[in-house]
Amino acid sequence: TGRCAIVWHALEGAMRLAFFDDFRLGLVQGDRLHDVSGAIDDAVPAPQRPAVLIERFGELRGAIERAAGRAEGRPMAGLALRAPVPRPNKLLCAAVNYLEHGVLTELPIEFFIKSAEAVLDPGGEIDLPPVEARVFQHEAELGVVIGRTARRVGAAEALDYVFGYVPFIDVSARGLEPRNYFTQKSFDTFAPIGPAIVTADEVADPQRLRIELDVNGEPRQRFGIDDMANGVRELIAFVLLVMMLRLGDVIATGPNHQALSPIQHGDQVRMRIEDWPELRVSVHDDQRRTWVREIDAAMAAEARRGR
Ligand code: MN
Repeated sequence: TGRCAIVWHALEGAMRLAFFDDFRLGLVQGDRLHDVSGAIDDAVPAPQRPAVLIERFGELRGAIERAAGRAEGRPMAGLALRAPVPRPNKLLCAAVNYLEHGVLTELPIEFFIKSAEAVLDPGGEIDLPPVEARVFQHEAELGVVIGRTARRVGAAEALDYVFGYVPFIDVSARGLEPRNYFTQKSFDTFAPIGPAIVTADEVADPQRLRIELDVNGEPRQRFGIDDMANGVRELIAFVLLVMMLRLGDVIATGPNHQALSPIQHGDQVRMRIEDWPELRVSVHDDQRRTWVREIDAAMAAEARRGR
């Protein structure tokens, strides 16, 4: 039927797009990246290429497919990957937005803003700052990349403005005074993102995705996005009550708190959403602080109580 044809066509066009080296564009298939940088004019300055990709994706799609057919794939593991949204004008993060495996029934929507300086390339080092934190932790989250200008759009239409989805880690400092989001969340390098944007047409329903995060190969966070208190649509609509969104803005959708744990110097952090390319970062600490390597049970219990 015609309806089936439309669905098939949408899936056919889905792409996993990454940038490497000096913002060369790559199309990811499996664990290999095909250099399709020829699809974007060389005259476009390197840092602007992600925005050009999003803005002109409809017309670039054919050229990307043709270039991928010509290019031999390379293993992603050996590449210098770049954050696919390197300088978001707005990096908006939902706080406390999970029902903690269904223990809670509802939560109010709450947001904070991270600086664009917090964005960290895949393969980069989270730089733990010399502040008196009780601990530094990972929060694995679904990142939503906005595709075009949205003003006063309601939840029902909100997903029409999404370009794609991307793994995001909201690195967090705990126990700083005063306790607020500015002090805990927005240090430089505290927003690893990438490596690939998965275009929205691959994700029929973002609420059905699963997230996993490991530290040094030890399993930590494991949760389904169906456990969100407020879904992607509602989060976007909430933000739009306050401000407009533009191409390349990023919304991080909050963490499940049931398996947060410390990160410290030398750690390797790996995050996955479904079978999308993995986000890998390491940790640097000039002060070489150490913490007990265990899941934060107190934080998990606090989250289960709501706040
Ligand atoms: Mn968070």
